[in-house]
Amino acid sequence: MAVKFDTVIVRLGGEIGIKSEWTRKSYESLILKNIKKALTFHNIDFKEFLHYPGRIYIKTEMPIKASEKLAKVFGISSISPAIETTSNLEDIEQKSLELAKEKLNENAKFAVRCRRVGAHTYTSMDVCRKVGQILLDKLAERKLKVDLENPDVEIQIEVREDKAYIYSEALIGPGGFPLGAQPKLVCLLSGGIDSPVACWLVMKRGAPITPIYFDNYPFTDETTLKRAMKVAEKLAEWAIGHSMKLYIVPHGSNLIEIKEKCPERLTCILCKRMMYRIAQEIAHKEKAEGIVTGESIGEQASQTLWNLKVLNEAARQYPVYRPLIGFDKVETEKIAKRIGTYEISIQKAKGCEAVPKKPATKASLKMVLEAEKALDIETMVRRSVRNAKILDVAKKRT
Ligand code: ATP
Ligand code: MG
Repeated sequence: MAVKFDTVIVRLGGEIGIKSEWTRKSYESLILKNIKKALTFHNIDFKEFLHYPGRIYIKTEMPIKASEKLAKVFGISSISPAIETTSNLEDIEQKSLELAKEKLNENAKFAVRCRRVGAHTYTSMDVCRKVGQILLDKLAERKLKVDLENPDVEIQIEVREDKAYIYSEALIGPGGFPLGAQPKLVCLLSGGIDSPVACWLVMKRGAPITPIYFDNYPFTDETTLKRAMKVAEKLAEWAIGHSMKLYIVPHGSNLIEIKEKCPERLTCILCKRMMYRIAQEIAHKEKAEGIVTGESIGEQASQTLWNLKVLNEAARQYPVYRPLIGFDKVETEKIAKRIGTYEISIQKAKGCEAVPKKPATKASLKMVLEAEKALDIETMVRRSVRNAKILDVAKKRT
């Protein structure tokens, strides 16, 4: 019969542990809330929560599913489905044997590890030796080998006061701080590879997001919009229990005006400056504290340091955060794959046709301000904000 896990061990991010007592407690209680919301959302019932500094033990009938879902809760560093038993050494031996029978194949190299909190009649080392010997004896026909340096399988035992937990696997969580530990940020979300990663990185540090997609139709089409919506839905899976609105801002008319009235080489910079200005208005409306973009140095013509400086000048009321500023593309792609947005971002979508053949890589503020004299910026911003559609992404998540 398969071993029956009945508990999930949740380990909290190491950085939370070094916070002041007050901050640590408030972060941990926020993680607890987020965990309960995630479990409830996924219809996973849970009976008991034991909370210690840095660790939470959850009793549940669905520990495997719970572990998978909790791997998307910020502030958690790892999760293990475990078997709970008493701190009685015979019970520990018996449950360890049950787990080992399932996990150790013939010729497997294994290690028994033990950590202990509380007063017991044995040491951690006693537990490791005793359990290790029992596994070798009782499973002798499997020709197991102890290998403390490089085991195939680790049988892990955590003894805590009058209880003990046995497990062998750990799922990696995202780490970081609980969502909600920081105020909201608005994020420029194009749906390409970069901006979803930028969104996720600020969420990882505790900031809920309000993504904004600028719809450049007729220079893009439905495929680009749909991709952005799907990406937003994917990001919402990392924010269970938190609302997530997606702003869809009609931006094509702004682009048409820019193309008609301004030097072609400046199109992308002027377009982006409009995005920043509109994002500021939405940030104000949403009570957000800053703007996030997926820009990194030199990744596109509009992202040279000269051009980023000119972009910043368009957003004087809010800081612009660029979590990817020093990332190479491969580094960004690695995170995109890990968080599930990469596959969506590489789906075929129409690229913006307003991009000029020779975009300016070294714009100056003087040059840009001169070009913008031809535009009625205030009216354009107001019109865009007024006509923005707001989608409740949280409603669509699964
Ligand atoms: P990405 O990979 O995120 O699509 P990109 O490499 O295509 O970006 P740019 O087009 O220069 O680069 O965009 C830089 C940043 O500006 C993006 O990461 C995103 O934050 C924002 N941005 C660009 N286009 C849009 C859009 N249509 N809607 C919302 N944000 C956008
Ligand atoms: Mg990019």
